[in-house]
Amino acid sequence: MPVTGLGPYDDTNIFARILRGEIPCRKVYEDAHVLAFHDIAPQAPVHVLVIPKGRYVSWADFSATAPDAELGAFCRAVGHVARELGLESDGYRLLANMGTQAGQEVPHFHMHLFAGKPLGPMISA
Ligand code: AMP
Repeated sequence: MPVTGLGPYDDTNIFARILRGEIPCRKVYEDAHVLAFHDIAPQAPVHVLVIPKGRYVSWADFSATAPDAELGAFCRAVGHVARELGLESDGYRLLANMGTQAGQEVPHFHMHLFAGKPLGPMISA
């Protein structure tokens, strides 16, 4: 059982459907464990989502239960995507919403990657 307040994994969530190829995405990167694609409603000039292919509801679930190979692949992939998009010189922001107060909408763990302009304060009230 996932260690999160979000409940068990829901195979009908939008990212599960993207992973099954049922709905399209603008793919940036893919390997055995990870998929990265452009956010459908970008909040910065570059707004990419990096997701594990495994069935993890949230960061709490992923960080506690994913095998080391999947954790490592995910971490490497996030860095790889940012590098390949040429974001290292000007910098970028990583953000993962976990649970209700963070406003997590999609119950499949994902990391947001923002870049392309000065990103302002880390948290707005
Ligand atoms: P969060 O609030 O952290 O759960 O973020 C969910 C993100 O998923 C939002 O930034 C949405 O714009 C994005 N999103 C929702 N549906 C899609 C989709 N079909 N393709 C790409 N991004 C999506």
